[in-house]
Amino acid sequence: MTETRTAIVTGAARGIGAAVAKRLAADGFKVAVVDLDAAACAGTVDAITEAGGQALAVGADVSDEAKVAAAFETIVAELGAPTVLINNAGILRDNLLFKMSAEDWDLVMGVHLRGAFLMAKYAQKHMTEAKYGRIVNLSSTSALGNRGQANYSAAKAGLQGFTKTLAIELGKFGVTANAIAPGFIQTDMTAATAERMKVPFDDFIKFSADQIPVARVGQPEDIAHTASFLVSEGAGFVSGQVIYVAGGPKD
Ligand code: NAP
Repeated sequence: MTETRTAIVTGAARGIGAAVAKRLAADGFKVAVVDLDAAACAGTVDAITEAGGQALAVGADVSDEAKVAAAFETIVAELGAPTVLINNAGILRDNLLFKMSAEDWDLVMGVHLRGAFLMAKYAQKHMTEAKYGRIVNLSSTSALGNRGQANYSAAKAGLQGFTKTLAIELGKFGVTANAIAPGFIQTDMTAATAERMKVPFDDFIKFSADQIPVARVGQPEDIAHTASFLVSEGAGFVSGQVIYVAGGPKD
């Protein structure tokens, strides 16, 4: 088993990433809270340290290899070699296909796919050395197709293939890779979608809850709970899976 219990969570300044970071800290991990701006990570880091945990704010754009390399140097020096990686950083650049710019396509691919690739590439070195690791990638129900999200749905479907390949390549080193595909989770991201659609967020939540079998929208803690299971030692025989956390079944 691993000697260090260091976890990296990207996009952890807010939303799902912040909840996952706090949950993994409560589970006993030292947590690298990675986001574009280190200062924006203060809220998550303070919440963890106030609860008695250990966390480090790290500023890095996950789609920039030099920034990723520097982030790993800092994390290894300050917290120890990471054996858990949660690829959560994400952005939306929604538009119908005929209005979508090539820049908005590239930006979304850059953060979700290139970002997850770079983070996993730098993390696997430490995981294979430790003969232990857990990688969790944030996909989405949008991977099944969603109007106005040609870029995002392609990236989230791509992450599912990426996850299965990591599971195949890294399994013999004690490393598992799984994807969580959330449905509607109440965060700034879904609030921004409501704003773009010119619908009050409360109405958007109510409308969405009416379509969901468990009759509510998801909270970041729902995803944190699932991530906590997937990175646990006991989940070592679960790999290459996509777990839809959406309050009901998805195809
Ligand atoms: P969020 O509230 O918008 O948070 C995303 C975080 O990622 C932000 O702090 C953002 O920083 C950071 N980020 C963006 N680009 C980055 C980059 N290049 N490098 C490092 N950090 C970056 O989103 P969320 O709702 O928590 O979503 C988290 C993940 O779950 C995303 O991958 C999302 O696609 C996925 N997801 C969400 C939902 C949902 O309903 N909310 C559903 C399915 C999947 P800035 O604030 O500086 O931009």
